[in-house]
Order: sequence, then structure tokens, then C-alpha cells
Amino acid sequence: MARLEVVKEIFDLRSSFSISRSVKNSIEVVRVEISDGKYKGSGECRPYERYGETPDRVIAQIESARASIERGLSRQELLEVFNAGAARNAIDCALWDLEAKKSGQSVWHLIGGKGDVHPVATVQTISLSSPEEMANSARGVGEYKTLKIKLGGGEEDLLRLRAIHEARPDVKIVIDANESWSFDQLRRFIDQAQELGVYMIEQPLPKDQDELLANYDAAPIIICGDESIHTVDDLDDKGELYGMVNIKLDKSGGLTHALEMVEKIKELNDKGKNIQTMIGCMVCTSLAIAPHILLAQNCDLADLDGPGWLKKDRAYGVKYQNGLVMPDKLWG
Ligand SMILES: [Mg+2]
Repeated sequence: MARLEVVKEIFDLRSSFSISRSVKNSIEVVRVEISDGKYKGSGECRPYERYGETPDRVIAQIESARASIERGLSRQELLEVFNAGAARNAIDCALWDLEAKKSGQSVWHLIGGKGDVHPVATVQTISLSSPEEMANSARGVGEYKTLKIKLGGGEEDLLRLRAIHEARPDVKIVIDANESWSFDQLRRFIDQAQELGVYMIEQPLPKDQDELLANYDAAPIIICGDESIHTVDDLDDKGELYGMVNIKLDKSGGLTHALEMVEKIKELNDKGKNIQTMIGCMVCTSLAIAPHILLAQNCDLADLDGPGWLKKDRAYGVKYQNGLVMPDKLWG
């Protein structure tokens, strides 16, 4: 009989993290541990308001499956019991970690990975603020080759971009508008985006308006789907609207389904689509980043700076060096 433990934990941020719809000074995560008496597997999720999740609701969801988890629910059965989301992610990752420890093999090898897990080049996020403050932040992260700029809608966005481009003409820029633009604004931005160093725009439009992207050619700028694409079904419905998809385990509901998404993108590309894979994260601890680092071994772009925002990460967490995130030994 397995034993399940579920706890909510709060981590303070070293500076506030702002995007179009929220400002955070701390984050609340849910940690799941599943032990079989001899080995213990851990997983972490970050319940997200945008998707109707709170820590308490996610904990209640996990508790509702306590009996079946403790009876030995498998990862495949988990996909049938839970919808995609944070709760499923924490359980799925705990089950992977437990499997790895029981088998004496790393998760990387269990998912078919060869050789060692390599450090991954990650973007550095610049939190939403005034143009001057954002330019200052951009100057302060000299070791990163790609910056991800959080924008908030409104005409000031162009001033923000200009200030950052002037401060760091040496970097590539990706924008994350977090659903805050109108289609009209997107079209006006695209005209100037390329000369400001931008090569990708993440989730410019609200999730329910992304159909407007059909027949719209933003090339050479890539439009990436985040809030719009959580699962394989979403890829079927809307994948072709986007040139890149941001896969995050809190959206896919775990590593198991995220691997299915990676396969689905390959399949779509084999049929002539051209969808790049981005691996992204919420602001989270190193426990949640570890499975993302595995997924990111073969991706086109990685946004794995989450733990870098924490005042204090978990012990033995990831390290950041020269724009790379180094694998940690916390999980898997
Ligand atoms: Mg995003």
C-alpha cells in the first residue's frame, strides 16, 4: 500500500513578478509525495488562477483520489481519472520519480533518453514594468542570449520594446503578451517587431480570439501559443494557428501527457506543418523544473528561469550559469 502526502508551500520572490494580468511577490505551490514504504517520489505543481485553480482546490482534487493513489494508481490510469492541470502534474511527476527510484534508472533513461542530461540554454524573463525599469533589468542579465519580455497591452508596449532593444541590441527578443493584445495591435506591432530584435510573440490574443490568426501570416515573426494550447486535443484543434507551442507540465497535467504532445507535434510536422516546440514553466521551484529540463533536451526554445525568481529555492536546486540551466539532482 502506497502512502500519499500533499502539502502547500509558499516561496517568496526576490523581486515582484508582473505580467499583463497579475503581480506576484510570492508563489504558492503544492508538493506531492508518494512512498511505497521503501522509496519516495516527489512532484510539484503551481495552481494557476488563470485556469481556475487555487492551491486549496488542487489539494482537494488530489485528496479526492487518495484511495486510488494509495492503492497504486498508474500514470496511464491517472490520465483517465484527472483532467489536464496542476493536480495531475504533481501526481504524475511524483509517480515518475518513484518509478525511477524503484527501477534504479533515471527518468531520462525511462523516457528513452540517451547519454547524460545536458544543460539547457534558457531565456531570461523581464517582468512587466516601465520602459526604463525594463531596460535596466535587461542590462542586468548580460549572460542571456534571449530575453523574454512580458508586455501588457496598450501603446506603452512599443516604448518598452524600444528601450530594451536600445539597452541590449545584442540579444534576441521574444515577447509574451499574455493575451493582452487586440488583433489590430498585433498587426501594428509586427511591422516594427523585426527591427526591434523580436523573433517570436507568445500568446498575443486572448485564448478565445485566436481563430483570428487563421490566414494571418506574421512571417518571419513566429506566433507561439501558450494559454490556448494545453493538451494534444488543443494541438488538434488549434495547433496550426501557431508556429510554436509552449508546453508546460502544469497545463499538460504532467510529463506523461507532455511527451504525447511532443510526439503529436512531430506527427503534425511530418504531415507538412511547421510547429516549433518551446518548453516553458511557471515561477516555481527546482523540483518542478527538473522534468521540464528533460523535455527541453530536444526543444527549439526553453523558458526555464522560474526558480531564478525565488528568494530561496529548495536545497540542491538548479544552478544558472552563462545563460544555461544546469540539471539538478532533486528529482528523477
Ligand atoms: Mg506565456
